[in-house]
Amino acid sequence: MTGRTEMRVYDCDAYTVDKSLPTAVVLPTTTDQVAQIVRLCNRLQVPFLPRGAGTGLSGGTTAVCGGVVISTVRLNQILHIDLPNRRMVAQAGCVNIHLTKAVAKDGLHYAPDPSSQGACTVGGNVAENSGGPHTLKYGVTTNHVTGLKMVLPDGEVVELGGEIEDAPGYDLVGLTVGSEGTFGIVTEVTVKLTPLPEAYRTLLGVFETIDDATQTVSDIIAAGILPGALEMIDQLILNAIEDAFHFGFPRDAEAVLIIELDGFEAGLDTDAERVREICKKNNAREVRLAATPEDRARLWMARKKGIGAAGRLAPSIVTQDGVIPRSKLPEVLREIKDISRRYGIRICNIFHAGDGNLHPCILFDERDPDELHRVVEAGEEILKLCIRVGGSITGEHGIGVEKIDAMPLMFTEADIALMEKVRGVFNQNELCNPGKLFPNSKSCVEVKWRPKTAYV
Ligand SMILES: Cc1cc2nc3c(=O)[nH]c(=O)nc-3n(C[C@H](O)[C@H](O)[C@H](O)COP(=O)(O)OP(=O)(O)OC[C@H]3O[C@@H](n4cnc5c(N)ncnc54)[C@H](O)[C@@H]3O)c2cc1C
Repeated sequence: MTGRTEMRVYDCDAYTVDKSLPTAVVLPTTTDQVAQIVRLCNRLQVPFLPRGAGTGLSGGTTAVCGGVVISTVRLNQILHIDLPNRRMVAQAGCVNIHLTKAVAKDGLHYAPDPSSQGACTVGGNVAENSGGPHTLKYGVTTNHVTGLKMVLPDGEVVELGGEIEDAPGYDLVGLTVGSEGTFGIVTEVTVKLTPLPEAYRTLLGVFETIDDATQTVSDIIAAGILPGALEMIDQLILNAIEDAFHFGFPRDAEAVLIIELDGFEAGLDTDAERVREICKKNNAREVRLAATPEDRARLWMARKKGIGAAGRLAPSIVTQDGVIPRSKLPEVLREIKDISRRYGIRICNIFHAGDGNLHPCILFDERDPDELHRVVEAGEEILKLCIRVGGSITGEHGIGVEKIDAMPLMFTEADIALMEKVRGVFNQNELCNPGKLFPNSKSCVEVKWRPKTAYV
């Protein structure tokens, strides 16, 4: 594709603040085609970048220097399922949920479950080291990937790792997971399959105040209980979900927690009772237990479609992604409320509370330049706050273009130079996904190729 109109779909991901039109978009169907495209781009010295479903939240797949977007959506086949050894080989463009659907009848699933799992690709998950509600107990993408096939930025095809775990030598799979598309184009992913839990107890805790809800999160973990998932939704977004789906959530509650316990049937009721007591101790108005699988599905639909429902609240949303120690949740949520007040912008919260992984969603209208400016500044202040309390500038959405300027808040010049050296081993001339991750690459791509052409 080279037409301006059809390529507009590719001018950003779910971080809509930075937009830039690519030079071309290609949709290969084989690893060999990807390699040929990459070699051609090298010959012509044209930048190129991988793109999955474009659900990224940090602008990782935005063509900030133009160049060729290599979409993986047609690399969407599950190639091999090895049930006895609990492995699957899938092409990088497979949608996350399709992996689980393919083996659910065998009592297995692919554990990392981003809330976007109905759309995002496993290649995108690898690039971002994505998490999800259930990664509190089961771990993030890197804990579930054992092998990769990848087209290196010079066009060479390599295989890293394989079906066995902990292969000898450097852990190049571990290094590549989370490299945000700057090491090459992943075309195949070997993942672990995890048995489905025997039983679930899914509770909804309803709280009058955010403080009580966040204190409950800390207390549950401190009590030695490890829920499969522990998610928080605040009042603003809860009402948007109600408007969209009419689930019967209490509109006047300041926050709700979705607390899921899973594992063997024996013992689950005891843990559920302990969770209920901790909620009550923290003044929960009500604790509901999902009585049927349908009730449970409704709770998860509310959580996973929550950001979509927030689309009702404003024309544009920036979903921030910081991490903090769980015990700091009450203090940090209070400060975020204060930031919202000081900058005069609405912020709602729906996040992986058990991981301390915040997602303040900043609501605004990108056509208003003044508001856009305040959104960027408020976002930066939230990240500084996360660092101040001992956290980090990203939990699972990556740096992309969004957080380039925040890197020096967390890393020294020497740290960043070392990371750039590692990137250089794979991506020597920076043609592969330029302008991402590092402050230096931002300026150098503007000089090397063409200035960023942001437009609305
Ligand atoms: C509503 C919503 C909810 C979300 N919830 C979560 C959540 O719970 N947890 C979470 O972690 N994230 C979440 N995200 C963020 C996003 O879905 C993830 O980052 C996801 O992994 C991106 O996958 P994608 O296929 O859309 O990748 P894209 O957005 O297309 O790309 C993301 C990055 O990966 C690179 N990339 C893509 N494919 C490849 C490949 N084959 N090889 C190498 N690099 C590649 C791109 O260059 C880019 O840097 C959410 C997003 C939305 C919109």
